[in-house]
Order: sequence, then structure tokens, then C-alpha cells
Amino acid sequence: MAVSYKPQLNYVDFRDLTEQIRFQSTEGKIWFGEQRMLLMHLSAMAAFRREIVNSMGVERAKGFFLRLGYQSGVRDAELARKLRPDRDEIDIFLAGPQLHSLKGMVKAVPLEIDIDQETGEFYGRVEWIDSFEVEICQTELGQMDESVCWSLLGYACAYTSSFMGREIIFREVSCRGCGDEKCIIEGKPAEQWEDAEEFKWYFKADPIIEELYDLQAQLSSLRSSLQQQQGQYYGIGQSSAYNKVCKMIDKAAQGKVSVLLLGETGVGKEVIARSVHLRSERAESPFIAVNCAAIPPDLIEAELFGVEKGAYTGANQSREGRFERANGGTIFLDEVIELTPRAQATLLRVLQEGELERVGDNRTRKVNVRVIAATNESLEQAVEDGRFRADLFYRLNVFPVKIPPLRDRLDDLPVLIEHFLKKFHSEYDKKTLGLSDKALDLCLHYHWPGNIRELENVIERGVILTDNNECISQEALFVAAPPSIETQPADCVDAGGNVTSGPSAAADSQHWSEHILGNQISLEEVEETLMRVAMERASQNVSKAARILGLTRPALAYRLKKSGILAES
Ligand SMILES: [Zn+2]
Repeated sequence: MAVSYKPQLNYVDFRDLTEQIRFQSTEGKIWFGEQRMLLMHLSAMAAFRREIVNSMGVERAKGFFLRLGYQSGVRDAELARKLRPDRDEIDIFLAGPQLHSLKGMVKAVPLEIDIDQETGEFYGRVEWIDSFEVEICQTELGQMDESVCWSLLGYACAYTSSFMGREIIFREVSCRGCGDEKCIIEGKPAEQWEDAEEFKWYFKADPIIEELYDLQAQLSSLRSSLQQQQGQYYGIGQSSAYNKVCKMIDKAAQGKVSVLLLGETGVGKEVIARSVHLRSERAESPFIAVNCAAIPPDLIEAELFGVEKGAYTGANQSREGRFERANGGTIFLDEVIELTPRAQATLLRVLQEGELERVGDNRTRKVNVRVIAATNESLEQAVEDGRFRADLFYRLNVFPVKIPPLRDRLDDLPVLIEHFLKKFHSEYDKKTLGLSDKALDLCLHYHWPGNIRELENVIERGVILTDNNECISQEALFVAAPPSIETQPADCVDAGGNVTSGPSAAADSQHWSEHILGNQISLEEVEETLMRVAMERASQNVSKAARILGLTRPALAYRLKKSGILAES
């Protein structure tokens, strides 16, 4: 049977409810029926609500307070049936709005209530006057964009749903908290609301802790990728040989002394030098890298220490050298062995006195630059040969760090390969599946005379030659794989990407001469290829390439010019 409440009907007396309240002051308890209650300050609740809104955001806070109201609603529905067992449905139902009023939360005035327990039909419309939540918002939070009577609404939903034994949803169709004239709620079965699912979301406890754990996980992954990025300043590696170097770098970075980096060509000395700089207190100041071998000997002084106008023909303008530019920071002198005797003398003065004179200048300038030098030749030997000043060597050699060749840290090969794959995938906008097992095996058994730089070139070649979603084969890495990599650990890759035998097999000149003649390669081409390879290995340093080829510098320079190689580079 359907029953309806119309406001003109008697407002049910609710003394039966008031009687349930017991103050057991001496015991520190207030009872409502069998439930313990609290009498708390509205202002405290207001501050609490503000804090929740500020720390969780409005949406989450709304959920909290809806669920807070929901908990009381469920209990009160149970109480209503207990207290008014013999009354009609409407009277029993009205215990809800009455309890709301009794507890001081709001004056709930039912405008229309239709209940049909048999069919489960329900419709309710209630006006809320003097909602405590509106008051809280007005004092603590200011006007909101949407309705604010969250816990009251949670209560109404829970109370009615429990009462009806089916899901009834109330919505606040207008609210004074957001500038409407009245707070009015309307309730009907969940399925009659279009956005019921969305609304029900508020009633699901949505532990923020999960989100915090998620964020924590994200944070730690960001942190580790940041550390990895910083690791790039170290270079990349985890082998014990490389870790030792990293420890040395950390120590070197703290001090002020010059650092001498030793190691074969291509081991990543500049990366290490930069790392020393970035870990030092000079990190915010410039880091200037100079490859001494790449600068013609007659220009090196001017390049490093600056030049005054008119110092020599062609010096049309005064300009500062790299040392002045690095002032306050760090200068990295790669291939320091290539410095001319005069440049060596000036460098010594910079190290000893912290001052220099530009070429063609008689003014002394103060500079504060930390020097990191590097060489892949023995400086001791150069001192013995009279090519390098002994006193400068001792100055530079205060903190020597030996960087191991790649073949002594093959454990690092997989991470290095991974690093370069990533780099070239992004550079060529491609995504290969990485190295085939065989290709990786080949890399792990290869001698890597050109070290990390060679590995980088090989991987770049592999990425270029391999299609998307395919594995990089050994053929893509190396033009021709050695027949048995195990028995020839000293193989190397030539300029064309061919794996060739190292010095042990070099005696077999029969083999390569036959190859040259058989392919009708001219003597000129052979010479040119040899010069190119030598120049590449010598990092374009003519003196060094000449030494590799057993020629004098002028002789090689002449041939390089003649063949057009020098002009190119
Ligand atoms: Zn409201």
C-alpha cells in the first residue's frame, strides 16, 4: 500500500526520539539509545573539514563526508524501526529527518514523501534549513561551486536505502552553500538517476594510501632514472673495474688538484672529466673541453691562452683563450701530450701561479681553472724522449686515474649496448629488437681496440642496417664475422666495418694482398684507405697518424693534402 506524506499533515511528535538521549556526565558518556554519541564543536568540525578539503581536494573530501553521513544513516534507520514498531511507514520514515534535526545538523522539512514498500517505489523531497554544512562553508571555506551538504546527503541516502531495503539516492538539487536560495534534496531509486553509477563512486572508500604507494613507486622510478642520467656523467657501467674508477672520480672531484686521466682512445675520458667537474664545487661554472691534437701546433697557444691584436699576422682582434673562458671552472685538455713546448711552459705557469699572458701581451691575467688532462700515450715515455716537460708531468700527475679499456670491463657491455640502442633508436626514429644472441656473443668475445667509441659506431651501424622490429644480426654489426671468434680474441673492426684479424695474424700478408689484388684495388686506394684509418685512429691528429704509419709528420701531411683527405677534415 502506497503512503504519502504531505506537509500540511501533522508533523509527527518526536519525543520518543528525544527520550533516547542520556547524559551520563560523570562517566564521560552521552547515549542515544544504545549508541554512544559525541557533542562536539561545530567550529572544530569546520576546521577539520577545511583541512580535509585542502589536503585531499574537493572530490575526495566530498567522498569522505558523504561516507561519514552514510554511517549514521544506516544506524538511525535501524533505530527508527525499533522505536516505532507500530506506526505507519511514513511515521517510521520521518524518524530520519527528525533525528537529523535532533542532532542539531539541520532542520529537515519533508515536502513530499511517497513510499510503497510492496513495489519498492520511493520518492522524497525535503528542504534543509540551517544546514550545519552550509554554515561551515560560509565561515571556513567561502562559497563553493557546487552543493555542500555532503554528510547530510550521505545520511539521507543511507537512511532511506536501509529503510526501503533497496538503493535510494538523494541529490541536493539546490544548495545555499553554492548560492541557491534553499537547500532542497530529492530522492528516488538509484536506477531512476542517469548518473547513479558516477554518484555511487563517492560511497566507495577509495583509500588514498593506494595512490600514495603508486606515487611513491613513480617517485622511486623517477629517482632511479635521474640517478641513471647522472650516471651518464660517470659514463655507464657496473663492473667492478668501472666502479673503482667511479670511486676515484668521487675522491678527485672533492679536491682542487689537477687530475690526469689515462686510458686507451675511446674509453670515454671526456665523459669522466665532465663527471669530475659536475661533482666538484665548480659544477656551476664552465667546463671547457679542448682536444689539443685537433688544434694546429702554431695556433695552440693562442687558442688556449688568448691572443692580443697584432700578435701575429692574422691576429686582427684580441680575444680570450679557453683558459679565460673556463675561469672559475674546469678545463679538460685531451691529448695533452700534443702541446708545443711553449704551450707546455705557459700551462705550467697557470698551474703554479694561477696566471697567464695572452700571446703578444705583457699584461698578466689571473685565472682560476682546474685542469683535467688526458692522454692515451705514456707521459713518462714522452718525458724520457724529451717531448714533454718533466716538471709539467709532475704537476699533472698528482691524481692519475686509469680508465680501463672496454675489453677489461665486458660486464658493462650489455648496459652500454642498451644505452647506445636507446640513443640511436631515438636518433633514427626506429625501434629494433636489439642484438641477436649471436651478435651479442660476438660483441662479448671481441677485443674492442677502439673501446666505447667503437662500440657506439658499431651499434649505430647495426641500427641503421636493421629494420623496425627486427633483431640486429652480427652481419649488421660487423661486415664479415671472423670464422671463429674464440680462437682469435684480438680481432678488430676496420674503417669499413669489417672484422679483421689482429697483429697475431698480420703475418699472413699473403691473404690480404691476394684480397687486394683479386679485387683490383689500386695502390692509390690502398694508400688512401690506410691514411684514412690511421687518421681516424689518431683522432685526426696528423703527428700521431704519422707515427702509426711510420712516416714523418711532413711526409704524411703532404700525402694527405695530395689525396684531399686533409682538406676534408
Ligand atoms: Zn545545502
